[in-house]
Amino acid sequence: MTILFADPRVAAVPVHESYEHLVTLGVSFGPARARVRAGLAARLRQAQVALPVGLSLRVVEGHRSAAEQQAIIDRYTAQIRDAYPEATPSQRHSLVSRFVAPLEVAPHVAGAAVDLTLVDSRGVALDMGTPIDATPEESEGRCYLDAPDLSADVRARRALLARVLTGVGLVNYPSEWWHWSYGDRYWALMTGADAAIYGPVVDLDRLDNADRLANADRLADGQWGGWAA
Ligand SMILES: [Zn+2]
Repeated sequence: MTILFADPRVAAVPVHESYEHLVTLGVSFGPARARVRAGLAARLRQAQVALPVGLSLRVVEGHRSAAEQQAIIDRYTAQIRDAYPEATPSQRHSLVSRFVAPLEVAPHVAGAAVDLTLVDSRGVALDMGTPIDATPEESEGRCYLDAPDLSADVRARRALLARVLTGVGLVNYPSEWWHWSYGDRYWALMTGADAAIYGPVVDLDRLDNADRLANADRLADGQWGGWAA
């Protein structure tokens, strides 16, 4: 069963913010130079070397500001209103959250998510069945990682992507084959972790000295135990 971002169980996951910084991904991940939390960047580097020779991960988007996220929500909500005029407000909320996360749980706003694909040795993107960011309407559902009507080649490429990314602890959002995250609320719910470790990045700006000292204590206690799990 697919759990949507709008599911109340996602927002109910507590966040034990790690205060890890955003880092810029290297050029081996493509020209976008996306910014993500340091722990996610480390995992992506591990996944990159796990790919067969000649293939690379190409990250097209990482951290997104709250304003950028809200703009995507507003744009897609308008499309859903046109496509499903009879939907109730709560049905509309669920339909929108198949494609874009509400602000308070948004993995990109937490610096915890990447949108990515596979490229060959010349940097040419492989055919993954749909473009990145194809909506369920545009792609007739083929944006779902496990969509039934994919060619064998596309299915194999998606399986490879899933294998290297789940291998380093990331989780996929099932209606977007390109969206993978680590450390956010959705990740915590799907992996059974007690809490998310990355909340909205804007919170980092509000750190005061007491927060920084509490954070230092938790690090000293080994509560976050490195990136091995
Ligand atoms: Zn995404």
